[in-house]
Amino acid sequence: MIIPAYVARNARKYPSQEAVIDGNLRVSWQQLDQHVNLFAGILAQQHDIKAGDRVCLVLPNNYAFIVAHFAIQRLGAIVAPINVKLTASELAYIFEDAEAKLVITCDMTSSQALKACAEIKLTYLVVNDMPVFTDANRHVSEFERLPEQAIYEPATLLYTSGTTGRPKGVLFDHKALLFVGMMFATEMHYGPQSRLLSLMPFTHSAPLNLSLIGGTLVGSTHVIAPTFTPDLLLNLVQKEQTTHFFGAPVAYLLTAQHPNIAQADFSSMTHWIYGGGPLAGDHARRVQQAFRSDQFYCVYGLTEAGPTGSLLLPEEHATKAGSVGQRAAAFTEIRVVNIDGKLAEVNEPGEIHIGGEGVMREYWRNPKATAEIFTEDGWIRTGDIGVRDADGFYWVKDRIKDLIISGGVNVYPREVEDALASHPAVLEAAVIGVPHEEWGETVKACVVLREPIEESELRGHVAERLADYKRPRVYAFMDELPHNANGKVLKHQLR
Ligand code: AMP
Ligand code: MG
Repeated sequence: MIIPAYVARNARKYPSQEAVIDGNLRVSWQQLDQHVNLFAGILAQQHDIKAGDRVCLVLPNNYAFIVAHFAIQRLGAIVAPINVKLTASELAYIFEDAEAKLVITCDMTSSQALKACAEIKLTYLVVNDMPVFTDANRHVSEFERLPEQAIYEPATLLYTSGTTGRPKGVLFDHKALLFVGMMFATEMHYGPQSRLLSLMPFTHSAPLNLSLIGGTLVGSTHVIAPTFTPDLLLNLVQKEQTTHFFGAPVAYLLTAQHPNIAQADFSSMTHWIYGGGPLAGDHARRVQQAFRSDQFYCVYGLTEAGPTGSLLLPEEHATKAGSVGQRAAAFTEIRVVNIDGKLAEVNEPGEIHIGGEGVMREYWRNPKATAEIFTEDGWIRTGDIGVRDADGFYWVKDRIKDLIISGGVNVYPREVEDALASHPAVLEAAVIGVPHEEWGETVKACVVLREPIEESELRGHVAERLADYKRPRVYAFMDELPHNANGKVLKHQLR
């Protein structure tokens, strides 16, 4: 079945069970299904949204997002959730690239979106007081639904985080989303009793496809809030007795420092999931200690692959924290391919490829980029350099594009970042290459401290761990690093 058909199925199977909890709003599957129909009717009747049209969402994780997401897909239109932190000109670029017919936003996130819409004369809809939320018995307008079996139709257009260059649209059909959602529901043991806490923005593939869609396939409850803060994490886990949380590593590191974490009751939580970046040895230990749990799962993947990829399981963290596991996720395969296009040997660096039914269909209106990312056998070239160690564990060394070449030798910024971050005074570190007359590039460290220390101490710490050519020559101490909405450091801004 297509994705929104699972909302209707849940309404039949679990009519009064909670589907969404958003602050004081508690909505059952039956109500959600009604609201999706009401809103689909409004979109069709008042905004002429039809199959194949693109509708952009500039919304936080709120109930309106969830209703709009499924309503758009129910019409056979394509939902394009857009990062709410973008500026008007960045938004205008995406709206035009997607050739959007409508933008849906709310007061909390509309300031830049409305400017962008004015600039390019695009229709928008502000949904604070969406009538469907207060009046579930309103008459549903007629609308044409996408047939339940039409799983090869496009469903979602996601613009990648764009840590380099202009964002590209990644197009998924319902079939791919089904596989990604099933993958995660299977791996993370989602069921109708699960309560998934989603504080990371649904505008990124991981929270959207792994949590919102994965949980909806099996009838889990979605506990949501418009932004992530460590306070909210602590409060909502306890208040709503959630079972699963997915967050970027930085979300865990920040929460681990919260003054109340030692008193927090996390007994309802069965799965602490992180991804989008590594939690290397010392960080993983620090977080596990603060959360008093060893139920940590690492997921590796990228938007173009669903995100499907590999998993590092709780029991593997003791010896392999910092790796991305030894096993591809369900319905997925992973491999490292060397520069000659052959499967890499043990510890030989190469590019990581991901294969499976959950991968994207294409880059939106970009056949050149699409041809470049797919291998001949239909796998995704991740753009990540990785190795498989003698025990079969995969290690993501870095993005190919972030590699520093200093004096002709490769330096992997992540390795240097891990060495810096293993110092207890370091909260976060990012390593970049800066131009150097003699060496081409040299290594620079941008460091955020949790407590003051001398640069010389940090240099000494790194010197004990890394060969001379990898050590940062320049240090910059900063109050914080620039992150995108998904918690990734924006290295091009640092450069
Ligand atoms: P995105 O397209 O925004 O989902 O970013 C995907 C990229 O994030 C991957 O290509 C990796 O470079 C990185 N990444 C994702 N998950 C992990 C992880 N668990 N460990 C290390 N790097 C990761
Ligand atoms: Mg990306």
